[in-house]
Amino acid sequence: MNLAIAIFSSKYDYILLLLSLAICLAGTVFALQTSGKFRKDSSGARTIWLLWTALVMGTSLWAAAVFAISAQVTTAQSGFEMTSILAVLFLAVAGTFASFALSLKKHLRLFLTLSGIVFGSTAAATFMLVERSFKVAGATPADLPSYFWPFVAGAGLGSVLFGLALRTAGKGQIKVSAAIMAVPVAAAFLTAPVTNLPIVPHWFPAGMELLTTSQALTMAVLVSALCAAFTCSGDLLENFRKQAARRAYHHLALQDNLTHLPNRHYVENVAKQLLKEARDNETICAVVLVSLDEFKAINDLHGYSTGDAVLRRMASLFRAQFGDPVVIARFYGDEFLIIDPSVETPDDATALARKVRELARRPIQTENYRLSVQCSIGLAIYPRDGQNLNHLVQRANLAAKQAKAVGGNAIQPYVTGMEENNLWEAALASDLRNATFENQLSLLFQKQNQTQNGRLIGYEALVRWRHAEKGYIPPEDFIPIAERSGIILDIGAWVLREACREAANWDDPVTVSVNVSPYQFSRSDFSGLVSTVLMETGLSPHRLEIELTESTPIEDHERVSQTIEALQKMGIRVAMDDFGTGYSSLNTLQAFPFDKLKVDRVFTQSLETSSQARAILRSAVLLGHSFGIPVIAEGVETEQQLEFLKEVGCQEVQGFLFGKHLLPSQIKSTEKDKHRRAG
Ligand code: C2E
Ligand code: CA
Ligand code: CA
Repeated sequence: MNLAIAIFSSKYDYILLLLSLAICLAGTVFALQTSGKFRKDSSGARTIWLLWTALVMGTSLWAAAVFAISAQVTTAQSGFEMTSILAVLFLAVAGTFASFALSLKKHLRLFLTLSGIVFGSTAAATFMLVERSFKVAGATPADLPSYFWPFVAGAGLGSVLFGLALRTAGKGQIKVSAAIMAVPVAAAFLTAPVTNLPIVPHWFPAGMELLTTSQALTMAVLVSALCAAFTCSGDLLENFRKQAARRAYHHLALQDNLTHLPNRHYVENVAKQLLKEARDNETICAVVLVSLDEFKAINDLHGYSTGDAVLRRMASLFRAQFGDPVVIARFYGDEFLIIDPSVETPDDATALARKVRELARRPIQTENYRLSVQCSIGLAIYPRDGQNLNHLVQRANLAAKQAKAVGGNAIQPYVTGMEENNLWEAALASDLRNATFENQLSLLFQKQNQTQNGRLIGYEALVRWRHAEKGYIPPEDFIPIAERSGIILDIGAWVLREACREAANWDDPVTVSVNVSPYQFSRSDFSGLVSTVLMETGLSPHRLEIELTESTPIEDHERVSQTIEALQKMGIRVAMDDFGTGYSSLNTLQAFPFDKLKVDRVFTQSLETSSQARAILRSAVLLGHSFGIPVIAEGVETEQQLEFLKEVGCQEVQGFLFGKHLLPSQIKSTEKDKHRRAG
């Protein structure tokens, strides 16, 4: 006799039966709510959510079975075997874990069907095993082959309905979904055979230890209530997880992910303390800036992986040589910063610089080459050359440039007046002043695409400078000079006007992203300029996006905030550019109401080799989620990188994988081609 027939033909406690159904439904609702959270999450937290879901779902299956079986009313002595009933609880949780884990591979239909089969079978097995741990004196247990049907019913309906239930839950209709999910469970339970109860009362032989029915029910209620309470605190857990993501990011953000040396941000904090101590003890402090010579050539000739190997090797040499209290950091690209508070005289500082030069010169054996690297070293001394780290680094940097200018492989202490001698930069700045008038600037456009389907969403405008004599100069060389000299205001205005003019002519009304330096925000009426340009060019404001970089520190917070808000009021979006490389990306993100997060290309490009880079990208996506703004990753060059970004849920991408930069004319002509083909 199976449960369905037994319910009508024998004596049954219908309240317990209804409670069984209620527990099953409530457990499913809780489990689906939890599972909704882990589906959106692709980090390590997903496993925790998965376990959580399984715990709630499995427990409620088990409790529902305990209730349904306890509902049989008998005058014979009865009870549950303690160990076996707990073992079933474990099995129910493990089974639901397996089924939800399988369903994560939902792009494969087969897996979804399989997860439904596992789910239905788990329900059938749970009922069967609870039933068999229920002992009734004088009763004959059902024979094993009769358990075939509950498995068929559970697995069969599960294979069809489980996927449907998850899709319904995905649309937010959790209750409907729970009802669908309860169908295979109910089918497995109702078709299951039950013990043939004795008509006359029986008793167990003396000394048999069993859990009474009421004890088992209490346990079931307690266990499922505990799970429910945990789930309700799920929001707490989620907040905790977000905070953990932020903390992890913060930790990562203090370290350079290639060399694992502290980065600039970290050094800034530590240096304050070191300089304060030096002031209090009236001692000096050496600030050594090491810039590798011809590093770009190493990259160009031998590839980036060799360049990276050189930097890593250099870092480990420095680390091995200089212990506490010396601070070593990767400062910028191919630059290292070494701060030594233990020097006593300027001569000690020079000796330190010599040691650095000697270390750097040691040949490096990579897989295929033996390289010898030289470096230019600038030296500044606290308090003689500056009162704070910024000042000291600036001067050490100037000295290092001088060392480079005389052919490299040199040590150059800072000397007063060096600023005026920095002729190269001065000359370039004066040429740059004319560049806008002499038509030496131009724009290229780079595609931005949706990650999931590759659809074009816009272009980023990138400025180019062709110098009359020196030829092509990359923006990374001239933008900093333009910022220091103020010329960025002219260049920035030109770029904005040109980019909007071009975009207004595109057939495809996609976004145009324009890079803007924080300097432009704080030193001019930037929002006024933007509204004039939009009026002149006729570009609709919602097609314009401003990328604000954080690689130069934002000083005038209030002004920048006001500008961002003014732009947003006009319907323009403002993205935070170069996320992860700035002085304190997290603070910047919190301080300003950005509409988008753009993760720097260094992270995308070291995805395959660096787990830190992967962690940063993951946490950037989580941060985007928690701020409710989309995340775009730049520098995507390979299918593998794209695949990873898809997996972690990064919404937008940009990079050479989608083609090189386009000339303005190429955008229009591809559009015309399309029309020609269509016509
Ligand atoms: P950015 O804003 O991070 O721009 C993206 C840079 O990454 C561009 O370099 C682009 O050529 C490069 N890039 C894009 N996709 C890939 C890829 O798949 N692989 C690799 N290896 N690189 C990729 P670009 O054009 O040399 O610009 C360098 C930086 O100069 C820009 O970095 C931006 O900070 C600045 N910049 C460029 N144009 C302007 C401008 O009009 N105004 C301001 N203020 N800065 C600009
Ligand atoms: Ca940019
Ligand atoms: Ca960038």
